[in-house]
Amino acid sequence: MSGGDDATTTRLVGALREIVTSARALAAERAMLSAGWTAALPALHALRDEVRAAGAFAPHLPPDLGGAGLSLSAFARVSEVLGRTPIGHWLANCQAPDIGNMELLHGFASDALRARWLAPLARGELRSCFAMTEPEHAGANPVWMSTRAIRDGDDYVIDGHKWFTTGADGAAFTVVMAVTDPAAPPHARATLLLVPMDTPGVAHVRNILVMGEAGGDWASHAELRFTEVRVPLAHRIGDEGAGFALAQARLGPGRVHHCMRWIGICERAFDLMCERAVTRELAPGTPLGHKEAVQHMVARSRAEIDAARLLVLDAAARIEREGTAGARDAIAAIKFHVAGVLQSVLDRAIQIHGAYGLTDATPLAFWWAHERGARIYDGPDEVHLASLGRALLTRAARTHGVAWP
Ligand SMILES: Cc1cc2nc3c(=O)[nH]c(=O)nc-3n(C[C@H](O)[C@H](O)[C@H](O)COP(=O)(O)OP(=O)(O)OC[C@H]3O[C@@H](n4cnc5c(N)ncnc54)[C@H](O)[C@@H]3O)c2cc1C
Repeated sequence: MSGGDDATTTRLVGALREIVTSARALAAERAMLSAGWTAALPALHALRDEVRAAGAFAPHLPPDLGGAGLSLSAFARVSEVLGRTPIGHWLANCQAPDIGNMELLHGFASDALRARWLAPLARGELRSCFAMTEPEHAGANPVWMSTRAIRDGDDYVIDGHKWFTTGADGAAFTVVMAVTDPAAPPHARATLLLVPMDTPGVAHVRNILVMGEAGGDWASHAELRFTEVRVPLAHRIGDEGAGFALAQARLGPGRVHHCMRWIGICERAFDLMCERAVTRELAPGTPLGHKEAVQHMVARSRAEIDAARLLVLDAAARIEREGTAGARDAIAAIKFHVAGVLQSVLDRAIQIHGAYGLTDATPLAFWWAHERGARIYDGPDEVHLASLGRALLTRAARTHGVAWP
């Protein structure tokens, strides 16, 4: 997606900030934190209507799909504002994994698939999910999987087992990564197929208990089984064997989206930690914030958040200039760095709140549980650290004329 001028972005950021910080949104957030996502859905739908009315729905999409045509850098600013509440991205229909599927379908699906599935997804009339990871294989090595799709006449027949499929509960379709040619080189073995969830043979086994919570609807991660699932060849997204390359193309901008969302979370956590530091008294006339240890936590958090934002905006600009492949180092750096900042800032905010920080009175405990995954999904820290370190050392070896594997 490209385009979107500064004035449009500023208007959208302002409109969305007003909605996500409104008393109505805070009430819906509280309902979600205490009663769960599904119970809060009526209030969430009302807020979605407000976002639609403000012209801020699916802002990442081009205007012909009802969006604002924001560039990646412009959407990054929007993503930060939405990240201030766990309900933000869903309200604007730019939540993962739907946003990635929208980009996949927009970029690589046939006209027929786009008309049938992308248009209603963009309008927020249905949801989708992305089924790649398998319980039997290390997700950190995404070219190793057992799910097969075998051609049979005009169809593919899919058999496989997936898990941690976010938002599968209630989704209308999933994009499945399946091996179509096991004899091909590892990165050319798999293909992406669009599978309607009501296709015979698709079984939603369960919503997985994640940190003690199974969740529901979009806010859940499912185990799925595919048994002799038959979809037409026309349900293929991109070329046969291009699954891995397309998933990578989807993940580059996706990491910017996640990182800016995490910075939004950090900003909210920062505001909460400051509020608590100045209002909670250790003794009459002695607020927590008088203590140097607390001042250090606040100062470190401020510096880390500001530095992380600059790193992510720079990565977004590099993706726009050089493409996902050209910006690979920057993408790896933001993924592990910002996930670490997120964890540190949330930890400090909870520490400053004491026991209160562990309750559902603020979103801190929810984020602590649900965002621990940030250091695991879309590539665990270690994979990104190794990839960046390897690239830097390969360059250093070249500079110094040293043979390097
Ligand atoms: C909240 C959440 C949502 C998710 N949503 C989806 C989804 O919608 N669709 C989907 O398909 N998947 C999803 N996933 C799965 C996710 O993509 C995988 O968890 C991720 O790829 C890691 O794979 P794994 O869990 O199998 O860990 P493994 O690959 O088994 O790795 C385990 C650990 O080993 C270490 N490790 C791994 N590789 C290396 C290495 N090269 N060097 C050193 N150490 C290493 C890391 O510490 C890593 O955490 C989700 C996961 C989470 C937590």
